[in-house]
Amino acid sequence: MTVLFVADLHLCSQRPDLIRAFIDFLENTAADCEALYLLGDIFEAWIGDDYVEAELQPVLDALLNLSQSAQLYFQQGNRDFLAGIGFATAIGAQLLDEQVQIQLPSQQALIMHGDQLCTDDLEYQKFRTMVRSEQWQQQFLSKPIDERLQIAEYLRTQSKQQGQMKSTEITDVNLQAVQQVMNKFEVELLIHGHTHRPATHKVTLEHCIGSRIVLGDWDSSLWYLRCDPLGCNLIEQKINPE
Ligand code: MN
Repeated sequence: MTVLFVADLHLCSQRPDLIRAFIDFLENTAADCEALYLLGDIFEAWIGDDYVEAELQPVLDALLNLSQSAQLYFQQGNRDFLAGIGFATAIGAQLLDEQVQIQLPSQQALIMHGDQLCTDDLEYQKFRTMVRSEQWQQQFLSKPIDERLQIAEYLRTQSKQQGQMKSTEITDVNLQAVQQVMNKFEVELLIHGHTHRPATHKVTLEHCIGSRIVLGDWDSSLWYLRCDPLGCNLIEQKINPE
């Protein structure tokens, strides 16, 4: 009984190596898993479920194929927050809320993308509230695809520039936000991505010492979390450049 987690692949047509690595991951590493959780930012950008870049279609096909034998779950990240029911249906996955408690083979866990924990980044949290509002999304989705692509490109450039100016502390999760949400859900394990700082951290909670597992982003390596009845292991594998 194996459950896998990935996040922050940031797939896009400019990185065919990552697309290949992910399809290979789905067809081999994940072939025998019981469930695969996609914890957001699977794509570098997503402008609505009515548009799929041709280069990304094989990824959707491979996910749909895996959904024949495994249960797939998807949580939105800060890049692919517009991937909705249409996307989930296209890959045979269940679309999850942004914070969900799940039962792993070894224990309970809380899962999320992780951007909601970066509460020190006030500017980002303001932006997040805006783009997650129904009004903003309706307005954006009603625009023609060309215009949406342009806006997405602009937002991406802006976010990169702002990110470079922000300190490491500001762009990491806020420890109190972590403790608060873990105490609220009464879980000893939190799994998330987003920060691109793969690690396992101890967290002091009200009644115990818990753990926070941070998934890594896919770049020169791929990262995934593998959970079975014995526990969870964060795994890194080098990606072959071609
Ligand atoms: Mn993210």
